[in-house]
Amino acid sequence: MSTVTGGCFCGAVRYAITGEPKSVGICHCESCRRIAGAESVAWAVIPLAVFAITAGEPCAFNSSPGVTRMHCERCATSLTYRVEGRELIDVTLGSLDDAETWIPGQEVFCAEAVSWNALGPSNEHFAEGSSGPKFEAG
Ligand SMILES: [Zn+2]
Ligand SMILES: [Zn+2]
Repeated sequence: MSTVTGGCFCGAVRYAITGEPKSVGICHCESCRRIAGAESVAWAVIPLAVFAITAGEPCAFNSSPGVTRMHCERCATSLTYRVEGRELIDVTLGSLDDAETWIPGQEVFCAEAVSWNALGPSNEHFAEGSSGPKFEAG
């Protein structure tokens, strides 16, 4: 199985993924937007068992109850998102060494998307999480 690697901007934190994502999507939620300082954040949903930090020690904090996000303490690159108790960890596509490794196929929390961030026409759109209703624009 091939290994996909990534890390933060400054290089202090590195990680490796030895497996395939369960899904790949773009999140438009306000938490992602404010934490990244970007209009949206693209994530790969990875089985926790195949994700490993290989260098450095990321800083972890709770962005909401039961949600832990990790970033580099030095350069602040957003790295991961995890809901307590789930055997999954979301990894930012932008922190992969090759950001073209996996292509998003869905967009979540579209109801919170900023008006100037156009949704991808070929993606599946959800109003909130991907287990909820589809998003209808307008
Ligand atoms: Zn860093
Ligand atoms: Zn989000």
